[in-house]
Amino acid sequence: MHLDDNLAVLPGIGPKSAEKYKKLNLVTVGDLLFHYPFRYEDFESKSVLDLQDGEKALVLGQVVTPAQVQYYGFKRNRLRFSIKQGELIISVSFFNQPYLADKVEVGADIAIWGKWDKAKASLVGMKVMGQVTEDLQPVYHLAQGISQTNLVKLVKAAVDKGYLELVTENLPQILLDRYQLMKRKEAVFAMHFPKDLQEYRQALRRIKFEELFYFQLRLQVLKAENKKQTNGLAIAYQAEALKEMMGRLPFELTQAQETALSEILADMQSGSHMNRLLQGDVGSGKTVVAGLAMYAAHTAGMQSAIMVPTEILAEQHYDSLSQLFPDLSIALLTGGMRAAPRRTALAAIASGQVDIIVGTHALIQEGVTYHQLGLVVTDEQHRFGVHQRRQLREKGENPDVLMMTATPIPRTLAITAFGEMDVSIINQLPAGRKPIITRWVKHEQVPVVLEWLEKELTKGAQVYFISPLIEESEVLDLKNAVALKEDLSAYFGERAKIALLHGKMKNEEKDAIMQDFKSGQTDILVSTTVIEVGVNVPNATVMVIMDADRFGLSQLHQLRGRVGRGHKQSYAILVANPKTESGKDRMKIMTETTDGFILAEEDLKMRGAGEIFGTRQSGLPEFHVANIIEDYAILEEARRVASQIVADKDWQNQPQWQILLPHLQRSDNLD
Ligand code: ADP
Ligand code: MG
Repeated sequence: MHLDDNLAVLPGIGPKSAEKYKKLNLVTVGDLLFHYPFRYEDFESKSVLDLQDGEKALVLGQVVTPAQVQYYGFKRNRLRFSIKQGELIISVSFFNQPYLADKVEVGADIAIWGKWDKAKASLVGMKVMGQVTEDLQPVYHLAQGISQTNLVKLVKAAVDKGYLELVTENLPQILLDRYQLMKRKEAVFAMHFPKDLQEYRQALRRIKFEELFYFQLRLQVLKAENKKQTNGLAIAYQAEALKEMMGRLPFELTQAQETALSEILADMQSGSHMNRLLQGDVGSGKTVVAGLAMYAAHTAGMQSAIMVPTEILAEQHYDSLSQLFPDLSIALLTGGMRAAPRRTALAAIASGQVDIIVGTHALIQEGVTYHQLGLVVTDEQHRFGVHQRRQLREKGENPDVLMMTATPIPRTLAITAFGEMDVSIINQLPAGRKPIITRWVKHEQVPVVLEWLEKELTKGAQVYFISPLIEESEVLDLKNAVALKEDLSAYFGERAKIALLHGKMKNEEKDAIMQDFKSGQTDILVSTTVIEVGVNVPNATVMVIMDADRFGLSQLHQLRGRVGRGHKQSYAILVANPKTESGKDRMKIMTETTDGFILAEEDLKMRGAGEIFGTRQSGLPEFHVANIIEDYAILEEARRVASQIVADKDWQNQPQWQILLPHLQRSDNLD
């Protein structure tokens, strides 16, 4: 008997049903045992004042009116009575359960599981509860053809056959004692069959700790190994030359930029390998910091490469780096290049004639050979997978790595979540920037917006208009970019030059359009979200986002960050008639803050960590039960203890930690 045994060893499972369970990634008995309910119906009594509309909850109260059953139609009926909770009278209805009338006794206390209708201040009852604590009900993730009951039965069958006994402890006794954690076997059992809510919470805490602890331990081990590597490059840059270069920049670095740069330079100079994340809000000036690091590498005779997710961005970086560092030789490498210029570029890169290479995924293609590649930068790092970053790194002899991201996450969280990286933060915008004024308007108000826009245009403003989709979709009622452009052209006529930009255009076309907008020949750029990341046109001061509620907060923040890049007052107009509460919330939050860190926190709360970090991509594991936001306190503690353990260089030889060693592989998901 083994936890890897196929589910088919359990009674009632044939090949057909095994197939169904496979859809839930349940193949072995172990998979089943570690497939925990994702929650329990929370049968804790609530005050109705705390309930959201439509929320299901357990409501305790005293019956104040007798039950009355009203029949209508064939077999349909409604049982009604009122209960009193504190000073509140709540009306309760049960549909088609007339026999419940027996349980309703005026003056007696009653516990009802039901759904709260806020507008009517009434409860639609689903169940009259007897003993509250005995009614804990698990809620499992399901698949077609598998019910909650099926799952409960099957888990029970596995336990009855003795499989639970095969679950071995994977945490050291010291930690179990220190944090008063349940033993693993008990916890696994209690996750499925808790005797009460209290026990379930203890089990949950244990499993969460286990997941987060191993996550942190693996990160800490990686980090320690990176630090141990003395075969990293020691880039002996020339401080004087770099300083001289900084003096020639058209602006002075902000304090935050200076600090980040010196952290990066210290890493580069040291013989250990740099693995650093540079976080900065949109417009905080990360590019120039990366540029200076690359310049430093150049003074040590080394090449640098910067990889970005889109061609537009590659070209823009190419332009701005060329302007900032006129004495460097900079090459552009993108997928859309013609054969001849590409050959020339490749030759110049391989020979070492080129100092900085700016490009898209084309940088990691076969046939691209670098010369003394010392520093590798990725911009908008969340757009790249771990794999792609590694490929770029492997193009050199263990070059230093700098990853930039404009998706801010709170520093503490960044340090914990990306434990194997060092983190630098630029939390300050260049001086003289005015905060962007953000307004949320409904579609009906668009005419007013257009009138206002007209005035802004006569003052020389340039405007972005963002539409979420390029083609008419029958399903989604979105205005498409093409139609939007036509509408705007009809409205403004000769009074404004309007261009259209979308992802399906050829690269040359896109370039020409961006160029026209940058040079001020175009007044309004209608665009899909292709301009979302990184595009920099300081003279553009107005951003109108159509159907803004279709976007997530991070994306809205990125889009809005395209304006407010110069000295002029900038505006963001969100046009939306949101149908959901969360849509409305997002619109409100956007008008209340321009702080990327606050928005990131809100976004994390609303969407969960997986989506933000792009779980698989970023290298964050998928947890069974833990959540790095909600369980932040446990995560912190896990990080602390993991780094304490690893701080002892000899830890892998200590008897008390032997139990950890088999689970250090990332692929070992603790099952
Ligand atoms: P992001 O961090 O969003 O990538 P960029 O690097 O594109 O920001 O910088 C935004 C703009 O601010 C650019 O036009 C850049 O030249 C300018 N900039 C960067 N640093 C400073 C500074 N210290 N003072 C003034 N302007 C700056
Ligand atoms: Mg940028």
